[in-house]
Amino acid sequence: MSDVCNKKSFETDSDAALALKLIKRNSSREKIPIRYYKCEKCGKIHLTAKPPSASKEAVKVKTPKQKMQVQNSRKKTKWLKNHEINGEDNN
Ligand SMILES: [Zn+2]
Repeated sequence: MSDVCNKKSFETDSDAALALKLIKRNSSREKIPIRYYKCEKCGKIHLTAKPPSASKEAVKVKTPKQKMQVQNSRKKTKWLKNHEINGEDNN
């Protein structure tokens, strides 16, 4: 057993999941682990309080098509707003 990480580590996902459950139930601290991840250094499971968005896997890249849809809907909204304002000015 090598001590690559000083963090508390678990051998399996289910061990880590169980620990997470117990911590959530028993800990009154503000910052508690919310998930577990496999460590690249030691190959074991650690707990972390960081949200999943910090990891590469969680980053979702929008496809160009999706981006265009967002832009189009924004343009539409802006046009509608301008149209409404102009209409009010005419009155
Ligand atoms: Zn580790």
